[in-house]
Amino acid sequence: MIYLDHLASTPLDPLVLDAMLPWMRPGSVGNPHAAHAAGWRAADAIEEARQQVAALVGAQPGDVVFTSGATEANMLALLGGLPPGGRCVVSAVEHPSLLACLPELRRRGHPVEMLPVDGAGCVTPDDLDDALSGCGGEPALVSVMAANNEIGTLQPLAALADVAARHGAVMHSDAVQAVTTVPVDMTALGLQGLSLSGHKMYGPMGIGALVARAPLRPVPAAPGGGQQRGRRPGTLPTPLCVGLGAACRLARERRDEQALRLRTLRERLWLALRDRLPGIRRNGAEDGLAGCLHITLPGVDAADRLLDLPDIAVATGSACHSGSGEPSHVLLAIGLTAGDAHGSLRFGLGHGTTAEEVDRAADRLAAVLADPEPLHRK
Ligand code: PLP
Repeated sequence: MIYLDHLASTPLDPLVLDAMLPWMRPGSVGNPHAAHAAGWRAADAIEEARQQVAALVGAQPGDVVFTSGATEANMLALLGGLPPGGRCVVSAVEHPSLLACLPELRRRGHPVEMLPVDGAGCVTPDDLDDALSGCGGEPALVSVMAANNEIGTLQPLAALADVAARHGAVMHSDAVQAVTTVPVDMTALGLQGLSLSGHKMYGPMGIGALVARAPLRPVPAAPGGGQQRGRRPGTLPTPLCVGLGAACRLARERRDEQALRLRTLRERLWLALRDRLPGIRRNGAEDGLAGCLHITLPGVDAADRLLDLPDIAVATGSACHSGSGEPSHVLLAIGLTAGDAHGSLRFGLGHGTTAEEVDRAADRLAAVLADPEPLHRK
């Protein structure tokens, strides 16, 4: 299997697994919230993980709220972070987990605004300025992702946060896809909220974090037992927290080297595809996320053609989440037609990807597409 779907999920790094394993053995029993030595040991391990998460994103350990993943972190930021009557401003290309909060916000009476993007998927600071100018001094929360999970476009976060600050608005960013290859420092950028996901950064599934700094103080949907200073109830899963911490430490150590390596591989893949596939187009900004290449093959039914490539894991650009036959909201927002969206593919390169795999994937795809009739229908 050639795995080129690292934007959907990354493999667990063996060093992360090594860090987690001691906390999964029977001898490591101890509720991290318990007041005895076994509990304190687990609490200390979680505290170290908080420091590792905070260090990756330029925050303080106390700002880190562990969640079940980025879906919950995004929900906690929006549904739990907006003061009564506050306005919510988001970009049109946010992840579905964030956009799914908007109907509930509207139901609660919050004004909601969606920022358009240009043909590369980029939000402009002027559009944000316009959206916040109309808010007449009411509190506001802006959420714009650091890197898009479909086309890899990086947003001008510092400039957007600057506009948000001028209007007294809180700025949150879903940085799930960015942190392994792009520096995201909340202090330097002026962000008050940031979402992370373990399984997009070589950590475990089932854990993520909302990093929340004043004045963002999320109120959880469930009252629960007051853990994490009342910001997210529930007993903390020690092995998962330790795993996320280790993944953040490794991301910090490897970020620049991986960004360089993946950018080189991405360009190699693009050139190999461009030379073989007439009519191919590349989507997103020229220098977006290092590990992401998003292409359109006009007139091709990408999902159907992938059935002939069962040994290659790539994502189709047609469905914004699995099971949906609808064209992706991101591709429509950058001006693709529904037909072009169905002819789109996303390659997600990662730590394990090799030049040989990239070449082989390009060859295999070109060979399959050279045949006018899909193999599986013959
Ligand atoms: N945000 C972005 C940009 C993502 O790519 C994803 C995963 O697809 C999520 C949020 C949701 O993350 P999780 O799987 O941790 O809930």
